[in-house]
Amino acid sequence: MEPLTKKIIEEYAMKAIMSGKGFMLPKWMLALFFDRNIEWQTYLEGCAQMRKAGLHPGNVADVIRDLEFVLNDGGSPQGLGCIAERYDLQNLSIADEAAVVTRIRSKAVNMEERCWHPAAGPTTCAMKNGRPDIINAHSLQNAKVFNLIGDRGNVVWMNKATGELDGTIEGRSRASTFRGMCKTHDAVFNPIEVEEFTGTDQQYFLFAYRAYLYSMHVKREMRHQRDFGPEWESDEDQTKAIFDKALLAKQWDVVETQAFRLPRKYPVAATGKFYLERDFLENRLVLGHDRREFVYATLLPRDSETWFLFSYLTQDHALYRPIGEQMRSRGSLTKDISAMLASHVENMYFNPTYFEQFIRPLADRIKAAKEEVNGNGLTIYGGPDQQPLEVSWTREDYLLNPFDIQLFHDQPKGAVTP
Ligand SMILES: [Zn+2]
Repeated sequence: MEPLTKKIIEEYAMKAIMSGKGFMLPKWMLALFFDRNIEWQTYLEGCAQMRKAGLHPGNVADVIRDLEFVLNDGGSPQGLGCIAERYDLQNLSIADEAAVVTRIRSKAVNMEERCWHPAAGPTTCAMKNGRPDIINAHSLQNAKVFNLIGDRGNVVWMNKATGELDGTIEGRSRASTFRGMCKTHDAVFNPIEVEEFTGTDQQYFLFAYRAYLYSMHVKREMRHQRDFGPEWESDEDQTKAIFDKALLAKQWDVVETQAFRLPRKYPVAATGKFYLERDFLENRLVLGHDRREFVYATLLPRDSETWFLFSYLTQDHALYRPIGEQMRSRGSLTKDISAMLASHVENMYFNPTYFEQFIRPLADRIKAAKEEVNGNGLTIYGGPDQQPLEVSWTREDYLLNPFDIQLFHDQPKGAVTP
């Protein structure tokens, strides 16, 4: 179709007003109109490949071209409505929308797979058909943790297509994996994958490094759906340089870990990277803009105990050490860990029976806790020096478990243990 012009839009607008129909937009187009961070071209191409929403390989390039024209001109409702009519664009059902997202995700996973080891290269990586042989690297200990919490190897976790904690069951071969290491270099994790956890500096470093790698890699995959802005990549590069150098030099003390022991096994496992907005006294944390200070957390069930590893770079000691000390002195460890994980960590796994009994009833509250934090931070630049200023709408008491979420429950004897 020939490119859209202002004249065509004006004619459409006149007709739509005269006929009393108004501007008819599919719902996904409204989302596009309100949230400019969506990678909408990728989304429309995904729809076209699946022949959804009125899009197909024959019209998608024209639709994208016309949408760019309208969006660059301010994204007027009549411009969008005109495009919807021109190409007969339709709404997407929830199922179709989830299918499109799943397809975009799997394409992103293929495009982003690589070996992140600092010594990676064609002579050091395991190779297959001239490319690094990337495996499904586990972000949580495969052999031990999934034996402890799985039900015949199955665990429950967040549904990646919908972002909901809806009881989706995953097999151990896929759960918690990411395609970010080759077969050879994945052996770097043997001290935490194969060896018994005894709390050595090397093990603490590797748990933090793996939480970092997993989160960084998944974010790169997510970038096919959302635009995170120009800053996060240079931020990631700085953190990566610190981890890479330490890994090669075996400098395990670049990571500081505060380890908390719960005196029984809970069939829950989690790992993730995040930054805290407040401490347990509701004080605002002052965070860097050049390199963001992150916490690397791991929840690690063992035979008769559960460990919560609260790690951060040693250079961020002054920021996060007091928070670990607050947790130690508050005497409400399971409640505090629950609040932190519910708000910040999506890579979390449960035994299926335990999930049904204790966690499903909390699913809405966990979702609310995540929404409280997600996307609430915003950096604006102001003042004479254009200083970055962090704006946040997250409630001040969010770490004090305002949604009353308890992830740790004692189980009746024999009821859950796989
Ligand atoms: Zn490699």
